[in-house]
Amino acid sequence: MARKQHKPQRICIVCKEPTTKYELIRVVRTPEGEIIVDHTGKANGRGAYLCARPNCREKGLSDPRFLSRSLKKTIPQDKLAQLRAELSKTVNIQREKR
Ligand SMILES: [Zn+2]
Repeated sequence: MARKQHKPQRICIVCKEPTTKYELIRVVRTPEGEIIVDHTGKANGRGAYLCARPNCREKGLSDPRFLSRSLKKTIPQDKLAQLRAELSKTVNIQREKR
C-alpha cells in the first residue's frame, strides 16, 4: 500500500517491535498501584504494551520480568495469572464477535 500511515505505534515489551496501537494489549499501572488490562486505551497510569503475537502474550504474561521492568513495579505471579485469565476472556469475546 502506498498510503501513508499515521497510526500511533508502540513498542511491544517482549519482541521490542513497533506495532500499531490498536493491535496491542495495554497493561496499566494505575495511580493507585493496581495492575490492570486497559481495554479502552485511555486508563491513567504507566502503560506497557504487548503485541498480538501469541508468543509475546505468553512470554509477557508468564515471565514477570517484562511487565515489572516496564511498569517499574514488581508483579506477583498471582497477578500475572489474573491478567492471563482476563486476556483469554477478551480474546474469546473477540472471536465470538468476528
Ligand atoms: Zn511482541
